[in-house]
Amino acid sequence: MSFTLHGIPVSRGIAIGRAYLIAPAALDVDHYLIGPAQIEGEIERFRTAQQRVHTELDALRADLAADAPSEMGAFINVHSMILNDAMLVQETIDLVRTRRYNIEWALTEQLERLSRHFDDIEDEYLRERKADIEQVVERVLKALAGASTSTLGDAVHGACNEMIVVAHDIAPADMLQFKTQTFQGFVTDLGGRTSHTAIVARSLGIPATVGVQHASALIRQDDLIIVDGDHGIVIVDPAPIVLEEYSYRQSEKALEQRKLQRLKFSPTQTLCGTKIELCANIELPDDAHAALEAGATGVGLFRTEFLFMNHKQHLPQEEEQFDAYRRAVEGMNGLPVTIRTIDVGADKPLDSMGGGDGYETAANPALGLRAIRWSLSEPQMFLTQLRAILRASAFGQVKILIPMLAHAQEIDQTLDLIREAKRQLDDAGLVYDPNVRVGAMIEIPAAAIAVPLFLKRLDFLSIGTNDLIQYTLAIDRADNAVAHLYDPLHPAVLHLIALTLREAKRAGVPVSVCGEMAGDPTLTRLLLGMGLTEFSMHPSQLLVVKQEVLRSNLKTLEKPVADVLASFEPEEVQAALRRVAAA
Ligand code: PEP
Ligand code: MG
Repeated sequence: MSFTLHGIPVSRGIAIGRAYLIAPAALDVDHYLIGPAQIEGEIERFRTAQQRVHTELDALRADLAADAPSEMGAFINVHSMILNDAMLVQETIDLVRTRRYNIEWALTEQLERLSRHFDDIEDEYLRERKADIEQVVERVLKALAGASTSTLGDAVHGACNEMIVVAHDIAPADMLQFKTQTFQGFVTDLGGRTSHTAIVARSLGIPATVGVQHASALIRQDDLIIVDGDHGIVIVDPAPIVLEEYSYRQSEKALEQRKLQRLKFSPTQTLCGTKIELCANIELPDDAHAALEAGATGVGLFRTEFLFMNHKQHLPQEEEQFDAYRRAVEGMNGLPVTIRTIDVGADKPLDSMGGGDGYETAANPALGLRAIRWSLSEPQMFLTQLRAILRASAFGQVKILIPMLAHAQEIDQTLDLIREAKRQLDDAGLVYDPNVRVGAMIEIPAAAIAVPLFLKRLDFLSIGTNDLIQYTLAIDRADNAVAHLYDPLHPAVLHLIALTLREAKRAGVPVSVCGEMAGDPTLTRLLLGMGLTEFSMHPSQLLVVKQEVLRSNLKTLEKPVADVLASFEPEEVQAALRRVAAA
């Protein structure tokens, strides 16, 4: 019997194939108390299992194909780091010593504690890193049980290339098995738009839908399934006519993809000749490679918090940060790299670095000590990051981007600290670009409305539509219960974007959009018509957005875009948007 499931589309395209179910890797563990004489032996068992998982991760790393996406190596490194992290290792051993838990019990208990902290994290991206810890613990538990530590394990052997993986969740390291297109796509019960699984899927170009609740329980081994990664739909046992329709769409898409590649080296300009910059959003220094591959003319947003998230006990030191920023800058071969200072909030990993009280108890963490607010409350940490970024500016074009600014005094304090970081580098005889440009994210409605404060003080602006929508509409971007109200086309959101673009243009201050709206080809014309000339997005979106730019004429967009902005009733907005699409 045919049925359809819905989830979150995370990687575009259509996959048609047989379901290959990967059983949940979670193991039931024994719970018992041990005697004092068994403590050291129990710890020794743990060390042996830990070593075994290390060996397996090393083997996975060594097996990586030379052209494997850079994320893959990074994910293995993240798991190796978690495996050594004191929050996991030392605290677990302490539970064995103090509570006399058997090691499996101690490990799952410690996982529970860490999970609770992660659940409280406001930032969706960081919160999803909980899955990495769970996957590492799962591997160690399997090693303790003497089982193979690979979740996919033998699944890959003998799998034919029409398989679609269906799993409760997939460890990023296990995603390595997807290399060389062994599988057509995948579906998971868990996950969100920014989960590692989603990130890898996007980088591999495999159609994927995540957060398809109960998929792994409802879909059976070998069921014929269609994954529509554009719409987050999974059709199980489709009727022949549905299958035919999707096969047709699949071949159309393959053709489209091939055509898009031809655009890679063409200049990005509208039909009327206006030059448009398409930049990339990156999370890791090695992502610079994908950015260049996609034809990005720079990095418009380097989310540096990714570098910080695995350091539970201390932040990366200046040298380590400098090295990461420099690699990104060098990786872009002289193109500009916009490095955003850390954007974290009420989260545990940073709490343990001397952040003080209040993070875990904040009633509304999204409105709390997040991003620049946190950085200004931790000036030494902030200065370390600023020095590291400034030092990287000696190796290429670097811009500094500050998240979540709203108040004049926050901007002034930030600029003071940048001056102080420069002074410190001068004293130490370290080089940097003295003219490095400093910009602000416009992602709080107050910042958009009071944009003259920013234009007077800063060199450039970047509109963060993800948060601008969240704060304008009072919709938690991570809360499923209100996800249907998260609307980029709400007139209030469009007005704030238009206002920012207009005022920045009037003041001659460069402005870009780096939120998800910039990578949505259905919004490209609207943004162009509002005056946007610089977009920054995930590299996988770049060519499809470029195609829209090449087909657009700013002159014919003027009137319909003005109509969109003059409309408030949803039907009128939609009608005007149709005229924008047709212009
Ligand atoms: C945004 O808010 O639009 C943005 C780009 O920042 P982040 O998604 O990292 O919050
Ligand atoms: Mg943001």
